[in-house]
Formats: sequence, structure tokens, C-alpha cells
Amino acid sequence: MIQNILQQQRIFFKTQQSKDVAFRKIALKRLQQEIIKREDAICDALYADFKKPKFETLAAETQFVLAELKHMLKNIERWASPERVSSSWMNWPSSDYIYKEPFGTVLIIAPWNYPFQLAIAPLIGAVAAGNTVVVKPSEITPNTAALISEIIKAVFKPDHVTVVEGGVEVSQQLLAEKWDYIFFTGSTHVGKIVYESAANHLTPVTLELGGKNPCIVDETASIDLAAKRIVWGKFLNAGQTCIATDYILVHHSVRDKLVEALQQNITNCYGENMEESPDFSRTVSQKHYTGLKEMLKGEEIIFGGKSNDEDNYLSPTLVNEPQLDSKLMAGEIFGPILPIIAYKTEDDIHNYISNYEKPLATYVFSTNKKFQKKIINTYSFGGGAINDTVIQITNKRLPFGGVGQSGIGAYHGKKSFDIFSHHKAIIKKANWFDAPLRYPPYNLPMNMVKKIKHLF
Ligand code: NAD
Repeated sequence: MIQNILQQQRIFFKTQQSKDVAFRKIALKRLQQEIIKREDAICDALYADFKKPKFETLAAETQFVLAELKHMLKNIERWASPERVSSSWMNWPSSDYIYKEPFGTVLIIAPWNYPFQLAIAPLIGAVAAGNTVVVKPSEITPNTAALISEIIKAVFKPDHVTVVEGGVEVSQQLLAEKWDYIFFTGSTHVGKIVYESAANHLTPVTLELGGKNPCIVDETASIDLAAKRIVWGKFLNAGQTCIATDYILVHHSVRDKLVEALQQNITNCYGENMEESPDFSRTVSQKHYTGLKEMLKGEEIIFGGKSNDEDNYLSPTLVNEPQLDSKLMAGEIFGPILPIIAYKTEDDIHNYISNYEKPLATYVFSTNKKFQKKIINTYSFGGGAINDTVIQITNKRLPFGGVGQSGIGAYHGKKSFDIFSHHKAIIKKANWFDAPLRYPPYNLPMNMVKKIKHLF
């Protein structure tokens, strides 16, 4: 079946239809209308999958992709046109261009944590750039996967875009095929499997992966506001956000004040009985839930830690000073558990952060500009924020992606168009003049050849 789909998409791509910008615009507009029409159904599917609050689905899934669609539709003609660049004297007279060419048949593999956004946002870029696409949503959020499949069926012909549902085995079958581009969002572990499969065919990739994101709070920070913004970004989606704070490094002199403010803000957001809060998601599966509870074993819980096995409910939880070699600190937490570690010197910060691979995000709360700059310039990470968390994803003019083990490549806005396009260099040479100097026999004196660098 997979080979059939791929074959059909290759045949369709060869007809050149998907390269027509008007065709791409019609497809994207149909997608836009279908999402608007089904916005409530999308919210229901995500609620069925892990009780995701409607506000969060609207803000971080449907409205997010609708904003991407709007931006793409507004700019697609300009971005798809050959881009003129200055010519070099070497080739005078010429006009020089970058042509944007679709790669061909693209595979998109999505995770479960923002199951709609992370399947559809890359799709927008891939279609806008003129590719055909196969989307594999996550099997862990089956209601959303089924709805994505329905939406895609209603909008696209399968030889242009189609959904293949399934789990790891299906994903592996898809990866065994030769694609022209693979866009993967998920864990670093699976990212390596994807990269290896892609390497067999020299297929280019974007890998949007995870990491252990530090949040540093120094003694000059505005503690109440810091706590409010950390709590929002951490417990949104029940901590299942790739750019959420993983752990806090706080200056020892403001540690107690921060802990108190974090507790207060958690209660302000979710009430005294958090299990009843309509604004707090569930952990996505029993397997993930059990993994999180395992991480809490032997830790000093200073707030929360309440759970309900029947509903995969784990309340917002603060942990005091976990050991570096604990389960909690071994890898990405990806749930509503927030470890708090006090530091005394900048060396302590350095020692902590240096234990981990380059994360997807880093946050610093401080009013000391020198300190802010030092953190941003010293450490390598995908992206981040000063005096806030998570919000770097909301500006379509900023690239979104990791570095090192947190990913390869970035997208959103124009970047989404560009990553799914091969940039083809073309020089259009005039015929009315042909400088003789480059042709053998080479008669140009060597001292002049040594000045050619000025003509490139
Ligand atoms: P995952 O890697 O387990 O799964 C992602 C996708 O890969 C799913 O569609 C799944 O079916 C498929 N898959 C799983 N195992 C596979 C295998 N062995 N071979 C081939 N395919 C396989 O990730 P997840 O649990 O769905 O998502 C959570 C992870 O994703 C976290 O690490 C998080 O940080 C990361 N993430 C990153 C971003 C980002 O934009 N950088 C966004 C969201 C999530």
C-alpha cells in the first residue's frame, strides 16, 4: 500500500501540476476552510485524546496553523518567484537568480504532544513549496490522527497529499522507502533512527527533536512575574511541550521566594482541587504516566505529586534538589514535574548545563543585562527567551528548531517555505559580449590572475 501511494505521488509530481503556484494556493485555501469548518471537532478530538483544554487547542493548534496559512497565502507568490541577486563582475553581463524548486515527495512524521499543529504546520510549508506529501500522525493520539486523515481526504487528492495512520511499524515501513525530503518531529532517540534511514538514500531532513531545557532565575529577577511565566509555560499541555522548562536553576538567595511564588501561581491557575480544573490536560498515555511516576520515586516533593491512575492524572509537581544521576535528571521529563535546583555561583550553572546535550530551549529570568547576554552567548540551544518561557514559538518571523541533539533545521513562516524548496542557482548570461580572458590558451599575466578575487 505504501509503495502504491508513493508511486502515485511520484507520477502526479511528474505532471508538474503541484509546481503551479495557483494550484498550491487553491489547495492551501481549501485546507484553511476545512480547518475553520472543523475547529470545534479538532478541539473535541484533542480533548478525547488527553483532555486538552479547548483554549489551548484553539491557541496552540488550530489558530497557530491558521496564522501560518494566512502568512503563507499572503507571501507564497513572492517566495515562490525566482529571487534576483546581484551579479558578479566575473560573469558580466548577466542576471543571477535563485529558483525555488520543490524536492518532490515529502514524508512528515508527527508526535502526539501538539498532534494537530505538528502535523499540519510542516504540511503547509511542504504544499506551499510544491511538493506531494505523506503525513504520518502519532498513533498515541488516535482521535486527532483520524480527524487529520478525514481533513486531508476532504481537501487533497491522495496523489497530492495523503495520511498514513499507524504506529512504529508503519513508520518504519515508510522510512524504508526513498523520499525526497523527510520532516520529523519527535524524540532524539527516534530522530537518530530517521536520520539513519534517510542517509541510506541521501534524503535531506529536518529533525525537530527534544532536550532538557534549563530555566535560570538570578537574584535580580522579578520573582513574582518569573514564577507566573514559568508556571504557565511549564504546565500548559501538562508539561508535554518540547520547549517547556525542564528544570529551574535559581540563585540560592531567592530560592525560597521563588518556590513560594511558584506554588501560589500554580494554585491561582488550577485551583485547590487541580484534578477538577478544566484547564489542565492529562498525561497522554498510561506508559508515559507510569514513566513520570517512576521519576518521582525517592525525590523530595515540595508541592503536588497527586495522581489518579484511572485518568493518567499527575498534578503540577515541584521537586527539591534532585540528584544529577536520578531518573528525573537523566533525560527530558516531558510532564508536569518541575525540579528546582539552587546555585551559588556562575560556575554552578555552568557545571549543571554542561552535563547535558544542547537543549531545544533555554530561559533566563534576570534584570541584569550583562548576565542575560552571558547566558545567551555562552550556551548553545535551539532558541529561548529572556524573562519569559515558550513564547519564542509564537513569532512567525523567528526560526523554530534545535541544534545538536535537539534537532537539525528550523521552520515557521518563510523558513517553512524555504526548507521544503531546493534553492537552484541560475545565471542568465547575455550573448552580446564574451570576455576572452577565461579561455585557454591562458595569456593573462599571473599577477593579474591573482587579482581575480575582486571579480567574484
Ligand atoms: P517519538 O519519537 O516517540 O514519536 C514520534 C513519531 O515517530 C511518531 O509518529 C511515532 O509513531 C514515530 N516512531 C516512534 N518510534 C519509532 C521508531 N522506532 N521508528 C520509526 N518511527 C517511530 O516522540 P513522541 O513521544 O511522539 O513526542 C515526544 C518527543 O518529541 C519529545 O522528545 C519532544 O521533545 C519532541 N518534540 C519536539 C518538538 C520540536 O518541535 N522540536 C515538538 C514536539 C515534540
